[in-house]
Amino acid sequence: MTLVFDPLPPVLAPTSDGNLFPVRRLFCIGRNYAAHTREMGKDPDRERPFFFTKWAETVVPSGTIAYPQLTENFQYEAELVVAIGTGGRDIDPASALDHVYGYATGLDMTRRDLQFEARDKGRPWDTGKNVEQSSPLGTIHPVTEVGHLATGQIRLTVNGDTRQDADLDELIWPVEDVIAHVSRAYRLEQGDLIYTGTPAGVGAVGPGDTIVISIAGLSDTVVTIGPPAVD
Ligand code: MN
Repeated sequence: MTLVFDPLPPVLAPTSDGNLFPVRRLFCIGRNYAAHTREMGKDPDRERPFFFTKWAETVVPSGTIAYPQLTENFQYEAELVVAIGTGGRDIDPASALDHVYGYATGLDMTRRDLQFEARDKGRPWDTGKNVEQSSPLGTIHPVTEVGHLATGQIRLTVNGDTRQDADLDELIWPVEDVIAHVSRAYRLEQGDLIYTGTPAGVGAVGPGDTIVISIAGLSDTVVTIGPPAVD
């Protein structure tokens, strides 16, 4: 037997020590900063974190991404991204950080109009969140280089203007808690990425805009919005 067609090659994310991290799945935490939760019209609480998933193929490096179809409100979300190096199920928060390979800056680009329509009608978020090229990812820095990130500035600019500016210590659910939480629903596997949520200040961008996301100690992710894809 032969393959009917060539399987898609894995998504490979560069690491700061010159290696490549094979990406498996994306888990994205919602409403993990109080001020952002309020700007989304919801009350922050610590009841339970929630998350949604995105395809690995939505991960792209810094560069130009196409403005997606079917939206008139394409928004940035700056996020700390956790790269999982060791899998596990029902992980204890006390040992959760042992499962981290490294950290990166990232963006959870969102068709906000579609997300809000789905949210308000009780429908799935897929078309709002799981969008082609919607998960730009910076260089992954191994824990052996940068340690663990519990504090430090997280900042996003659009064309040089600061739009998001917060500190990682404002995360309602810190990294160890989100790892533990996701692992209670799915066995986490090496290669998984967890996008940990965005601070306040989200907003729309369009073709020609350049977004820079910075987190203290990590490499920037730099993304320019291009014209819509035509193929
Ligand atoms: Mn997000």
